[in-house]
Amino acid sequence: MKKGEKRPETLLVTSGRKPDENHGIINPPVYHASTILHPTMKVLKEASQPYTYGRRRTPTIEALQEAMCELEGGHGCVITPSGLSAVSTALLANLKAGDHLLVTDSVYGPSRTFCEQMLTRYGVEVEFYDPLIGADIGLLMKDNTAVVFTETPGSQTFEVQDLPAISEAAHAKGAIVMLDNTWATPLFFDAFANGADISIQAATKYIVGHSDAMMGTITCNARTFKATLRGHGHLGVTAGPDDIYLALRGIRTMGVRLRQHMETGIALARWLEQRPEVKEVIHPALENHPGHAIWKRDFKGASGLFAAVLHPVPEKALAAMLDGLELFGMGYSWGGYESLIVPAEPHRSATEWKEEGPLLRIHAGLEHIDDLTADLDAGFARLNKEK
Ligand SMILES: *Cc1c(COP(=O)(O)O)cnc(C)c1O
Repeated sequence: MKKGEKRPETLLVTSGRKPDENHGIINPPVYHASTILHPTMKVLKEASQPYTYGRRRTPTIEALQEAMCELEGGHGCVITPSGLSAVSTALLANLKAGDHLLVTDSVYGPSRTFCEQMLTRYGVEVEFYDPLIGADIGLLMKDNTAVVFTETPGSQTFEVQDLPAISEAAHAKGAIVMLDNTWATPLFFDAFANGADISIQAATKYIVGHSDAMMGTITCNARTFKATLRGHGHLGVTAGPDDIYLALRGIRTMGVRLRQHMETGIALARWLEQRPEVKEVIHPALENHPGHAIWKRDFKGASGLFAAVLHPVPEKALAAMLDGLELFGMGYSWGGYESLIVPAEPHRSATEWKEEGPLLRIHAGLEHIDDLTADLDAGFARLNKEK
């Protein structure tokens, strides 16, 4: 079977592994390296051996790069020590002073802060746009628009972007399209087929999958790889080998984990929809979600992260609900095996978030659905008592 013929589930198992080059050992070995010795002055001066310095490249880094490239169908990949450093590295590597950057208004909060508070200091003009803009992004494009940054669905509020339409309009004006593809992972959204030039993963989430390591990946097409690799080299953002090992190990089971996250997430969403305390459930896989049609057209699945808006309640009632939960942890990040819930506060500048009641961001973990709904049911009882 040729490489290109393998299905994504199979690639999760096979990609980035070379047991035959490793004494038959299944998993790629962990190379700890800073100094790498060169046999002669000539080799050192010409940098003519595959590995020259631990910050640049090791077989461990390469294994994850190759796995991501195969999974996403990219031309090249660079690895960074966190999802946020993947976002910042991709942007810094592809922008310069005087460029105009368009960023979706529903972007991950720290990505917004990086653009607003750092890129602007280096002379990049940052403009946020309505995530639902579609082909009308063309109206915002300027002669100096270098990058259109997308994230679909949006962080916390799950607006589904029309990436093919946005990409077509951006490409028509010569801009690069970057996608933060963390929510769907390469398994549920084909970044490149939908028009992105760069696909970013906070691998901290589903790829690592066990809440025990931070990792970022930037997978590029041929157009964007050179500049991104160069920028990554200048910035020196290298991930540690043990964490890369955890990411590689996580990839192998991501397919089965994601399917369960999806199933439990949709079941939780439907259960929450029936609750009188809930005003609205925001989950792209639900038929009444405004982005459902585009989600169905472009995505192959949904991960376990979604949101619910409650009817307005006093703060102490919400605290009574959340503080007493047994299975749902309260903490940042997501994509691990455990269920999580956090009150979310969307930041907006190009659009408005109009909901008055609390917005809860929920991550469906791998616990049994009935135990999760029982936990929430008890939580709502506490909330109602304090109302
Ligand atoms: C968590 C997250 C990031 C940042 O990843 P870290 O590994 O926490 O730095 C970036 N984008 C999205 C959509 C995320 O959810």
